[in-house]
Amino acid sequence: MTPPPSHPDASLSTIERVNALRQILDRHNHLYYVLDRPEIDDAEYDRLYRELVTLEQEHPALLTPDSPTQRVGAQPLKEFQSVTHPVRLYSLDNIFDEAELLAWEKRIERILDRNEANLDYVAELKIDGLAVSLIYENGHFVRGATRGNGTVGEDITQNLRTIRSIPLKIPVNGNLTPPERMEVRGEVFMPKSAFLKLNQERSLKGEAEFANPRNAGAGAVRQLDPKVTASRQLDAFFYAATILEAGASPEAQALKTHWETLEYLAQLGFKTNPGRQYCHGLQDMRAFVRKWETARRDLPFATDGVVIKLNSLALQQDLGYTAKSPRWAAAYKYVPEVQETRVLEIDFSVGRTGVITPVAIMEPVFISGSTVQRATLHNFEELSRKDVRPGDTVRVQKAAEIIPEVIEVVLEKRPAAATEPVSIPTACPVCNAPVAQVPGEVAFRCMNPAGCPAQVLRRLEHWVSKGALDIDGVGPALLEQLVQRDLLSSPADLYRLSVEDFLTLDRMAQKSAENAFSAIQNSKVQPLFRLINALGIRHVGQETAILLADTYGSLNALSEASLEALTELPGIGAKVAESIVLFFADPGNQQLLTDLETLGLSVAQATKATAGRTAPQCFQDQTFALTGTLPTLSRQDATELIRQHGGKASGSVSKKTSYVLAGDDAGSKLVKATALGVRIISESDLLTMIQEAHALASGESCQA
Ligand code: NAD
Repeated sequence: MTPPPSHPDASLSTIERVNALRQILDRHNHLYYVLDRPEIDDAEYDRLYRELVTLEQEHPALLTPDSPTQRVGAQPLKEFQSVTHPVRLYSLDNIFDEAELLAWEKRIERILDRNEANLDYVAELKIDGLAVSLIYENGHFVRGATRGNGTVGEDITQNLRTIRSIPLKIPVNGNLTPPERMEVRGEVFMPKSAFLKLNQERSLKGEAEFANPRNAGAGAVRQLDPKVTASRQLDAFFYAATILEAGASPEAQALKTHWETLEYLAQLGFKTNPGRQYCHGLQDMRAFVRKWETARRDLPFATDGVVIKLNSLALQQDLGYTAKSPRWAAAYKYVPEVQETRVLEIDFSVGRTGVITPVAIMEPVFISGSTVQRATLHNFEELSRKDVRPGDTVRVQKAAEIIPEVIEVVLEKRPAAATEPVSIPTACPVCNAPVAQVPGEVAFRCMNPAGCPAQVLRRLEHWVSKGALDIDGVGPALLEQLVQRDLLSSPADLYRLSVEDFLTLDRMAQKSAENAFSAIQNSKVQPLFRLINALGIRHVGQETAILLADTYGSLNALSEASLEALTELPGIGAKVAESIVLFFADPGNQQLLTDLETLGLSVAQATKATAGRTAPQCFQDQTFALTGTLPTLSRQDATELIRQHGGKASGSVSKKTSYVLAGDDAGSKLVKATALGVRIISESDLLTMIQEAHALASGESCQA
């Protein structure tokens, strides 16, 4: 790094601070952009960054071209081919409050010499993901790249091809002529649900969890194996197009505003963010920012602010760029709510595969819409890095508005009485068996899988859970009692329980005992994918279970699948395949399968044609496009419901789409559906259709 030049106005301590800040920011940039493993949260990064900007503004002579304030992102990774962008990609300047928003607007008016002109802007939700640049030639997707340092990015075409919301050919429908050459920009992101699932899976595998969906998404896109990208359920929104050569496309030639560009992208079949608004002046921008400050918590994807852009493309050009950002756009960043609370104890939870996770148990504190009492510290590396101890006061926030997270210990408030760093337990806190670190893993595990009551209980909880055998009314409390009374030590034992066994439990009346017994008995006939998921094979979640059920059609066939055959399936890597083979080779698991069969579980009946399907197939041959936020169902749940009833959920609307299932803030799909005459239904319409199908004894048709 170039040392800042000496300057008569800057004291030695200022020069030292500038230098230190550059080193700190460079380090965090590397952790964030290259390794996808940030050590500080964005708000803390932004504070340090602002401090440097302020010092550089106060002492312009200290500014150097390699300062982090003058550069975008990071150098591209060597593992990927480098791509020189046809048009440079920039970062965005940040705005943190309404006073800064006003100042920003005034600055634009001043530069454009348009005092009090009430210019037009577009406000869009800022998706916390990874910027990508896609090149389309005569409607064909030919290359996709990361932003990299803005000038040169990484070629990730193969990975981006696996993301369903990236059209491989445009226009997706209709008869627009695509431009000869066009660059489309957007944000690839991991939906919150996929992020939570991925972290859960990683924690089970003893792998480091991602700090937020942005880093998880970036990690998934910058994979050398496109299969891994494909398995991570990524999505994308597009927000800019540069027509490099319009060719015979009159629509591309006619674009005059940013709003028109967004509409044009939607017409071509790109997914655009429905969270956007045309704003006439400051009032409208302010209203949009205020509206989403809390509403964004309920969105299925993470947002970290609002991007505001001047609408006129000609005026954008007049304003131009600074070294790092456009002058015509800015990011209004929402500052995450941070609260202080006290740590009561560090608990050790034991997972389904024995992984021991340290968890901070705290005095209840209300943050971003709910009360927080527990925050996972992920693993012992993280615990040691943050050095959280019982009695400490900690600063807590919700990462990506969802996960309670201990940011740091407030060291000044550490109790005077000496406390020690928390050490890694040598024995399992539940069964006292030895704890060990599996080579190559971060995690420490209890080495007593068959006998540890915590592991047994977690496996049983998984067995009865919604995505597995969905045994209603048999929840964790009931299972815990059964395990404590030695009535239950494996899923097969569930099917050996009698009504009398239930009656021995606390506060269990005859009716409840009968209900629990029947719920278990009724779970004997199950779609194959549920059974595969219930088995809890490491690295096999619901999606993989569906794929395996659809491919093999029976548990017997799956148990005989070879490593090679499994590896050839889409989204199944060597690790997953190996784990499946090892599971079926294990004598304990073979015994479990035999026991389950003897006890009447129909493990082998499901065939390829019926795998995963026992509900009435009322949506047979029908395709649903989902858009917007549904009132009660998550997107995943709605998709699963449609699938269970024989239908398909698709990412886009076409003439072949049977229904568009629309929720709040539905976007361009709705416009397209109306244009194509596709029927639009609400969540309650969907549920009524399903209820009616169930009510019809034959289950053959739905009343649509
Ligand atoms: P940024 O993320 O603040 O804003 C620019 C980016 O916003 C664009 O490149 C684009 O990817 C994205 N974006 C999302 N929706 C958009 C929309 N509708 N229109 C236009 N762009 C949209 O800037 P950056 O340069 O990518 O990253 C800087 C930020 O990253 C920092 O402010 C900080 O919050 C975070 N960061 C954190 C760490 C850390 O250690 N925690 C380190 C480095 C950077």
